[in-house]
Amino acid sequence: MGNSRKRVLIIGGGFGGLFCARRLGGVDVDVTLLDRAAGHLFQPLLYQCATGTLGFGQISRPLREEFERHRNVTTLLGDAIDLDPELRRVTARRPDETTFTLDYDVLVVAAGMQQSYFGKEHFAEWAPGMKTLDDALNIRQRVFTAFEIAETLPPGPERDGWLTFAVAGGGPTGVELAGQIREMATRTLAHEFHSIEPKEARVLLFDGGERVLKAFCSELGEKATKSLQKLGVELHMGVHVTDVNRDGVTVTPKAGGPDEQYAARTVLWTAGVEAVPFARHLAKVLGVEADRSGRIAVGPDLSIDGRPEIFVIGDLAGRENLPGVAENAMQGGLHVASCVRRELAGKPRRPFRYRDLGSAAYIARRQALLQVGPVKLAGFFGWLAWGFIHIAFLTGVRNRVSTVTTWLTTIARENRGHRAFMLGATGLPEQRYTWTTWDALTPPPPESPPDGNDR
Ligand SMILES: Cc1cc2nc3c(=O)[nH]c(=O)nc-3n(C[C@H](O)[C@H](O)[C@H](O)COP(=O)(O)OP(=O)(O)OC[C@H]3O[C@@H](n4cnc5c(N)ncnc54)[C@H](O)[C@@H]3O)c2cc1C
Repeated sequence: MGNSRKRVLIIGGGFGGLFCARRLGGVDVDVTLLDRAAGHLFQPLLYQCATGTLGFGQISRPLREEFERHRNVTTLLGDAIDLDPELRRVTARRPDETTFTLDYDVLVVAAGMQQSYFGKEHFAEWAPGMKTLDDALNIRQRVFTAFEIAETLPPGPERDGWLTFAVAGGGPTGVELAGQIREMATRTLAHEFHSIEPKEARVLLFDGGERVLKAFCSELGEKATKSLQKLGVELHMGVHVTDVNRDGVTVTPKAGGPDEQYAARTVLWTAGVEAVPFARHLAKVLGVEADRSGRIAVGPDLSIDGRPEIFVIGDLAGRENLPGVAENAMQGGLHVASCVRRELAGKPRRPFRYRDLGSAAYIARRQALLQVGPVKLAGFFGWLAWGFIHIAFLTGVRNRVSTVTTWLTTIARENRGHRAFMLGATGLPEQRYTWTTWDALTPPPPESPPDGNDR
């Protein structure tokens, strides 16, 4: 790795890091792409992995395979934990807890966000979030196990609790998950059980706003509301989930009034995001401003003020009007690569200009929303457009082909081919067979207000 060529270190192989590294492939620089996971994850289809439609291999691609042909790009597995801006050195931790260092001339921080519980981290034990492959597999385990447990119980409140699913957060991820669970219960699982009726499973969706999908115009939001209601999702708007425990959730109406309890043995959390720990560390070490969720203030070219060699892109970039969507991360990655290339050619950097290419959200079979400028699509045409967009951006031709094939099979046969889930091995305490005896170990830290963005 050590020669006179410029060393570009990219932290994070998500959308931002991937697009930056790709554009620097074959350029006269040495690129190191460091990620704490070994693959690029296509987060927009995580919920399909969580609910058994897609396998995890279909929504992730090994970074090593992705960059096999780019001789100047090295991919490394490691968790960035420390930055020395004077030495221009990052320390990373291997999965065995040992560490190694990486020196850079240009640092690109594309480490993304993680789920936020707004200071109530103990909720996570009962309510997994939805940001990583582990989250998706955890949710898959809980959702399918809930039906299995219910099947073994006599009718009554305990069984009802297992057949009730609470989803916190009415943004795209919450809507997608809630819709999928109902669809799974009413189609895929409908005839597979003898004691329970899966279609009687209740799915409760909670959000503090007046309606779901606030990022979409009210016309599309209304359509989404109707589709969800038709699907049987119970919408509870204008409430905050203020407690989560083994037996369910407590919600507090925003307009005042008494708290309400809902018994639900499966709770899923999609209510907010915050910067990953390395980003917090970076902000502290560099003394730069970060917003409430930890997004780092960047200048017009996405570099940090006074540190032109450090760029922050994607979800972590804290600049007005930059949304937490894949398109922003991809464009940011391409922009930084262009800055590096221009500097090699002795040209000045250009400011970053984000081009809004719209938003899409899946509701259910044959129903999705697409909003691109004045174009608003819902229902079947929205669904078709949603499908094309997701396939176009999915990483790897093999994943694209197999995802389309899986979707066609799912539509034709109403089945889900990726329902397998792991259960812990006996005798290993860290791989428990059950998650329901967990004791919250840490006392709840002080509450901080939600930021309302589920991605
Ligand atoms: C469930 C879900 C659905 C979504 N749906 C859509 C959608 O339909 N359309 C859309 O436009 N956007 C969607 N998004 C948002 C979109 O996925 C993000 O905006 C995008 O992934 C941000 O890209 P990024 O490169 O900034 O970060 P990410 O893609 O999150 O990548 C960050 C990478 O950094 C790595 N990393 C983190 N910390 C470290 C560390 N310390 N050291 C090394 N590596 C580290 C992570 O492993 C990860 O690979 C969705 C997000 C989620 C969670």
